[in-house]
Amino acid sequence: MNCVNDCRFCSLFEGKQLYGQIDTLLCETPNFAMFPTIGALVEGWVLIAPKEHRYSMCSYYSNNEFADFVDKMKNKLHKQYHKFQFFRRR
Ligand SMILES: [Zn+2]
Repeated sequence: MNCVNDCRFCSLFEGKQLYGQIDTLLCETPNFAMFPTIGALVEGWVLIAPKEHRYSMCSYYSNNEFADFVDKMKNKLHKQYHKFQFFRRR
């Protein structure tokens, strides 16, 4: 899916920092990335998203590559913060 608007995520994946230093990829694969979010309520608040512009994550919840990436990022977050919450958004 092509990004038709100025999308923060697509810009971030193209190496542009629309929101300054917060637009920094923490971990990435060719298809997925983890990065901080604007308005984080707690330290360590991050998003995991596909690099392909999508309006819904539903198709990724059965994707093995996405599941593997999420598991690796959960392990990293656990090592850093020990306790954390994980939310899934459609
Ligand atoms: Zn986008």
